[in-house]
Amino acid sequence: MKRYLALFMILPFCVLTHKPVIAQSARYKAHLSIARQHGVPLLRTDAQVKSYVSKKKLAKVSSGKGYRVQKLTYSKPYLVPRAKTVLNQVARAFYARTGSTFTVTSLTRTTGSQNRLRRVNGNAVFGVSSHNYGSSFDISYVRFNGRKGSNKRLERALHAVLADFQAKGKLLYIKEYAVSCFHITAR
Ligand SMILES: [Zn+2]
Repeated sequence: MKRYLALFMILPFCVLTHKPVIAQSARYKAHLSIARQHGVPLLRTDAQVKSYVSKKKLAKVSSGKGYRVQKLTYSKPYLVPRAKTVLNQVARAFYARTGSTFTVTSLTRTTGSQNRLRRVNGNAVFGVSSHNYGSSFDISYVRFNGRKGSNKRLERALHAVLADFQAKGKLLYIKEYAVSCFHITAR
């Protein structure tokens, strides 16, 4: 029982997929371990986020070439500088390939905002997420050029760019299903 509890602890709440829990949790563990290597500790409160922003350990992320940031509810528009660089590179590569933009749906979360989400979403899994370290972001694969709707060509192009960046050691990604996003952690 304890072992299963431990597995759930390392799942971020954005994992609501039909993939086997154990296989997924091993992959999320890898995300967590690289997320912790960017100099920002587990972020619990907004005040803590503010403090890391003022120390320039977290950088503001707004829409840029090849991407836009959607209106955020449970996350804040900041990333560690390395993750922001990786996001910009992914977006430029995607734009060069397709002439289209993708949508970032989630960035840095505090454990406090995660608790709030848990109250409204019964499926939200209890535990620490790589989003709590400022190193992860989610990109929707059903929202391109600001419009919601499936576009298999653009989804494949985005997937190909992420696979290429992962092969080059710049990031890890996981395709999520229930929330239709790629969960990405910079390395
Ligand atoms: Zn995510």
